[in-house]
Amino acid sequence: MEHKDKTLTDDEIHREVFDAIVDGRLAPGEKLGQDDLGRVFGVSKTRIRPILHRLADQKIVTIEPMRGAFVARPSVEDAREVNAARQVIEEGVIRAVTRTARPKHLKLLREIVAAEQSARLSGNGGHAHRLTGEFHFQLARITGNAVVADIVRDLVSRDNLVVALYQRPNASACSLAGHATLIDRIAEGDEEVAAHAMRHHLQDVMATLDLGSQKRSAKSLVAAFSHLERRQ
Ligand SMILES: [Zn+2]
Repeated sequence: MEHKDKTLTDDEIHREVFDAIVDGRLAPGEKLGQDDLGRVFGVSKTRIRPILHRLADQKIVTIEPMRGAFVARPSVEDAREVNAARQVIEEGVIRAVTRTARPKHLKLLREIVAAEQSARLSGNGGHAHRLTGEFHFQLARITGNAVVADIVRDLVSRDNLVVALYQRPNASACSLAGHATLIDRIAEGDEEVAAHAMRHHLQDVMATLDLGSQKRSAKSLVAAFSHLERRQ
């Protein structure tokens, strides 16, 4: 991403930090210092504060009194509840999409799966990881209900943190084949069968987790934003 000769807007900074968390460049539990982030983005820490609060509202950052902000570390119970909530909401999503999807929607979904595949092949695991979430978000957007789409985006973001913490080594939460199957079921037009496929897909995601152990990543905050031009 290029941001030369341009200060980022608050929305752009929010997006950058959001993506760094969801891509796994910032690990669960990582400290998000206002001064450090201000330096990374070349802005004052007073601009960083509300952005961290917005991320806290989205449940991917936690703010602890006297200690500051951290990338959220979902508990085992959070992991189960997020997955269960996704099953309830995304079964509804796929039913609605199966009833109303047009060829352009199926094309869009197939394009995301193709992009996901090329990101994986080129070794860009973080980007591929984000695109798997994008698949679920775009599916929700096809319903035309912006509230549902927002809920799915937030749940998928929280699930990305769960995966970052609990995924078994070499497992892949959302498989490409799984997404291709969902598109096929939507195209076939039977909403009961499509809902069943979504339930199985999300149960498969849960099965890739090892809820008995947590991982830690050692990446630094500055390294997480190394694609940005260094400021100040
Ligand atoms: Zn998936």
